[in-house]
Amino acid sequence: MKEKLDKIGQGAIKELEKVSDLKELEDLRVKYLGKRGKLTLVLRDMGKLDPKERPIVGQMANSIRKEIEEKISSIKDKLDEEVKKIRLEKEKIDITMTREKTRLGHKNPLIATIEELEDLFTSMGFTVIEGPEIETVENNFDALNTPANHPSRDHSDTFYINEDLLLRTHTSPVQIRAMKEMGAPLRIISAGRTFRFDDVDDTHSPMFHQLEGLVVDENVSMANLIHTLDIFIKELFGAGMKTRYRPHHFPFTEPSAEVDVSCISCMGQGCEQCNYTGWDMELLGCGMVHPQVLENCGIDSEKYTGFAFGMGIDRITMVKYGINDIRLLFENDNRFLQQF
Ligand SMILES: [Zn+2]
Repeated sequence: MKEKLDKIGQGAIKELEKVSDLKELEDLRVKYLGKRGKLTLVLRDMGKLDPKERPIVGQMANSIRKEIEEKISSIKDKLDEEVKKIRLEKEKIDITMTREKTRLGHKNPLIATIEELEDLFTSMGFTVIEGPEIETVENNFDALNTPANHPSRDHSDTFYINEDLLLRTHTSPVQIRAMKEMGAPLRIISAGRTFRFDDVDDTHSPMFHQLEGLVVDENVSMANLIHTLDIFIKELFGAGMKTRYRPHHFPFTEPSAEVDVSCISCMGQGCEQCNYTGWDMELLGCGMVHPQVLENCGIDSEKYTGFAFGMGIDRITMVKYGINDIRLLFENDNRFLQQF
């Protein structure tokens, strides 16, 4: 019996040394240690042994079993390691990646224009103030003398939130707020987003930008207005620029004018861009503040006069940078922005 066990043990070790994969290993485990395995079968015959010999043989069998188990376990570890190595080699992926250079954004020419205008007017003694984009109908229309039947008050022209609130249609309500809160004298500009119901095309957008200026003081005249705007236009576009004032009507100024400037493409010589007129039309609107508007804001119109002007910054930016489609200003396409 002891010899038999020894033989089984040696045979098992010998066979195990030749194992080259996990399947063979498992087959051998079954062959020796399985329910019908060689070792198991021998142990079943233990009962036939002399009771004295049983513990000795039992101990021997156990130690052979242990030896085989340990051998199997160490081979299994080795094979597992190899399998893992092969798999890692096979599944190796290159996790290094060429990454695009970090692209920095670029200042939108519209913002650049607003900042330039604010700097310019600040240097002329104006204070920059801001107002809300959601305004009261009172500040946006009534206080500015805009009659109830004025077309701009129509629901088809303006984004109403409810009967009392709307998305401001111009930056003028900021002037109202300033006059109501600060009184006279006053010298302010305000730039920001404004909204009107408009279909989008290359020159129209339901959201656009305005800058407005207001001066209220004693003895303020139309001459002051024209001088201020002349300085501003020359600073912004160049010393060769001329301005032209055409009478116009706004509810909140009297008299009112629209301002044309020299065509920036030909500097007034006449070209295809300006239909050979030499003028860029309607760059801004202006006028003397209507006395009723001053009174609406609690300012004594007998003592004070004022002038106001307003311009579309989108249009000024387009003229200044030679941009032919307003939509380009809002798309924030870096390829476009990088050009300025
Ligand atoms: Zn021209």
